[in-house]
Order: sequence, then C-alpha cells, then structure tokens
Amino acid sequence: MSDLTVRLQSSQQRINAACTEAGREADSVTLLAVSKTKPAAAILEAVAAGQRCFGENYVQEAVDKIVAIANPQLEWHFIGPIQSNKTRLLAEHFDWVQSVDRIKIAKRLSEQRPSHLTPLKICIQVNISDEPQKAGISLEALPDLAQQVTELPNLQLRGLMAIPADVDDYQAQRAQFKRLNTAFINLQQHHPELDTLSMGMSGDLEAAIAEGATMVRIGTAIFGARAPK
Ligand SMILES: *Cc1c(COP(=O)(O)O)cnc(C)c1O
Repeated sequence: MSDLTVRLQSSQQRINAACTEAGREADSVTLLAVSKTKPAAAILEAVAAGQRCFGENYVQEAVDKIVAIANPQLEWHFIGPIQSNKTRLLAEHFDWVQSVDRIKIAKRLSEQRPSHLTPLKICIQVNISDEPQKAGISLEALPDLAQQVTELPNLQLRGLMAIPADVDDYQAQRAQFKRLNTAFINLQQHHPELDTLSMGMSGDLEAAIAEGATMVRIGTAIFGARAPK
C-alpha cells in the first residue's frame, strides 16, 4: 500500500473514532481531501484509494488540475480566498465554493454559472474568532448574507465554513467550533435545507466532529507537509 493510501485510511479512521466518541454515525462526516500545492499525480493516487472529494485554494492551479484529471465522478470544492476577477473560473469548474463572504462575489458566481451545470453549491465563510486579518463574514452580518445568497438563481446555499484561530487546547478548539455550530443551527430555523457544517482540519478534526462538523478538510495528514507558497 502506498504511503498516501495509508495516510488517507488513518485520516478516515480518526474521523470514524471521533464519530463513535460523539455518538454519531461515521457516514455523517464527509472527508474533503485538501490537495492544494500537490500535483495531479497525488490526487490520482488518492482517487485510486477511493477518495472522491477534493479541496483547492489557488484558482489557476486548481483549474489546471481539474482539466487535466477530467474525471466527472470527482467533486471539487474551492476553499481559498476569492478575487472577483477569478469568479468565472470558479463558476465554470467547481462543484462547491465554500469561501463566499460577500454578496458581490456571490452575485458574480450566480451570473457566471454556466446554464448546463447544476447550481453551484455554496458555504458562507464565517470569521468565527473575529480575527481582523482573516477572511469570513462576522456572525452579526451572517443572516443577511445568507438570505441574499438564497435568492440568487444559480447558487444553492448549503451551509457554513470556518477556519478558527489556531489553538492547541482541545477545549478551546471545541469552544470555537461550538460558536459556528450555534450559528448554523440558528440559520437552519430560517433555511432548513442547510446541511453542511465545514469545520476541522488535520490538527483539530476531533474537536470539530464533537461539535457537529459534517465535513472536515484534511490536507497535511493525507498529502504530507506543503512547501511554503
Ligand atoms: C489548507 C487548508 C486546509 C487543510 O489544512 P491542513 O492543516 O493541512 O489539514 C483546510 N481548510 C482550508 C480552508 C485550508 O486552506
């Protein structure tokens, strides 16, 4: 078995164990393999091991790989910062965009989504720890943005995504994820169709699953360390 296959399996085992611990079904959490900066060959290895959902952060790099791999069974999620001049590429090539945090970007994605594709699935990125340098909308502004996104014809709002402040302590990690889960549950009262809570990465997936994550985004634990970009 390749190293990558072993790391993919041990990430899945961490997810399963965290689900058991939390009294949740193992299939209630989707593993998103974050392949940013990694070559198409590494993605194909993960595909051979059964992985289907991939997350990417850099638009042009991602589109090059999506086009080269050209496998309609894969699901591509954009999770990086969005510049407005890149929305067309996102609308044309991705299945999901998880990092929407302003209406201008959402409107462009809806306008630019090709009509032969299903609506683009969207998560709103929330700045859960109120870090000024971080992407994401504030909790206060979230309900308005969510309402506006649901009114756009070629988008389908599915949930929330966050990258909380990097802390080592398990209880502190849980406290941050709990804030996002509370916001998610509040939003579901107006938008019951929301089903995706994307939170948790290689270092904190256990805390995220304990607080209700339905999707964890795992990079280094699967593909190894990244070169600085
Ligand atoms: C890079 C990245 C990840 C993966 O992080 P790891 O610590 O490598 O697992 C998850 N989410 C986002 C938004 C990222 O940019």
